[in-house]
Amino acid sequence: MSILDEARARDAADPLARYRDRFILPDGVIYLDGNSLGALPRATPARLAQVVESEWGDGLIRSWNAAPGGGPGWIGLPRRVGGKIAALIGAKPHEVVACDSTSVNLHKLIAAALMMQPGRRVILSEPGNFPTNLYMIAGLEAQGLCERRLVPSERLAAALGEPDVALLLLTHVHYKTGAMHDMAALSRAARKAGVLTLWDLSHSAGAVELDLEAAGVDLAVGCGYKYLNGGPGAPAFAYAAERHHDRLRQPLTGWFGHARPFAFVDDYDPARGIDRLLAGTPPVLGLAALEVGVDLVGEIGIAPLAAKSRELSGFFLNCLEELNVALECVSPPDPLRRGSQLSFRHADAFAVCQALIARGVVGDFRAPDVLRLGFAPAYLRFADMAQAARHLADILRSGEWREERFQTRSAVT
Ligand SMILES: *Cc1c(COP(=O)(O)O)cnc(C)c1O
Repeated sequence: MSILDEARARDAADPLARYRDRFILPDGVIYLDGNSLGALPRATPARLAQVVESEWGDGLIRSWNAAPGGGPGWIGLPRRVGGKIAALIGAKPHEVVACDSTSVNLHKLIAAALMMQPGRRVILSEPGNFPTNLYMIAGLEAQGLCERRLVPSERLAAALGEPDVALLLLTHVHYKTGAMHDMAALSRAARKAGVLTLWDLSHSAGAVELDLEAAGVDLAVGCGYKYLNGGPGAPAFAYAAERHHDRLRQPLTGWFGHARPFAFVDDYDPARGIDRLLAGTPPVLGLAALEVGVDLVGEIGIAPLAAKSRELSGFFLNCLEELNVALECVSPPDPLRRGSQLSFRHADAFAVCQALIARGVVGDFRAPDVLRLGFAPAYLRFADMAQAARHLADILRSGEWREERFQTRSAVT
């Protein structure tokens, strides 16, 4: 049986195959970048049109309290969408809000952790963590509020024992390699050492199984526009374990995080629960689109999505082997130790990626030398894996990537 025949047989037996049609995907494109910008759910355009034309157009300001026809008001969106995300990450509904960007939520929660840890000022992370994590630490460091300490992942557990460490800040699934940290083990070790944990779940939420509660995680953030399919620049989410809610203080003390925003009093009084992580007026259009994406992921279910993502990446590797493609894979070989992506090292990864895109296989390049292919399980087929592998093999064999047109870089890669 050829790999394409095998792929078609696996698609025919795939219980998630029917969900592909719940997304709008262009013809002739094999989309291996859902880990960077998730695809468009078929229900999103109509939902956005409804919010714009009916809730905004007709309801006007009344829609904050109740949508025309009596639907729920906009004011509840951060908590409502947050509660739905909570179900995908093993948190309680009142432990998550959807708000701001991942970067802004990182700022709020790093600063919150520092305020909860008087006498400790070190933020522990690893070199090569996603830049916004490291830059956000740097911003607080420039204000004299903390000290950044970067330690390679194999030495993190030992570094937790140093007495000045306040917070361990890690990205659960590494954006470049797809390597997944042992969240439960590191969180346990941190807790023992009196160190708080803040996990960035941007490449995890909607792709891998998570149980923040069982892992004893203190704080977390994550992205709405990757595997949650919320659309470009979608609001992110922030999580704080219930046990910390009373002590939690964050620096962006805007009126939406106030206990009584519409009392218009002069003094700040933080809201009782997770609402204190809010700062300003929620972005209604963005939250409405995010809700559609989150609902769809919730309907399919994380366990089947995670299982399929492991099957897709495993099958892709089999295809490459079958085609005798010798590329160095920098992602962990054990599918249980990686997220929903595979990354390959090639000296000219940028040009190889451009040549793939020209053939309709959309992946991405991460500097300096990584070709990153994401396998969003909700809408990819095994046949896509076989075809993408064949394109990659052809490009490498023919040297097509050397063509001049594949060498020019744009602003976003
Ligand atoms: C995508 C991503 C972000 C995104 O942050 P924004 O504020 O939305 O730009 C943050 N952290 C990680 C690990 C990411 O992969």
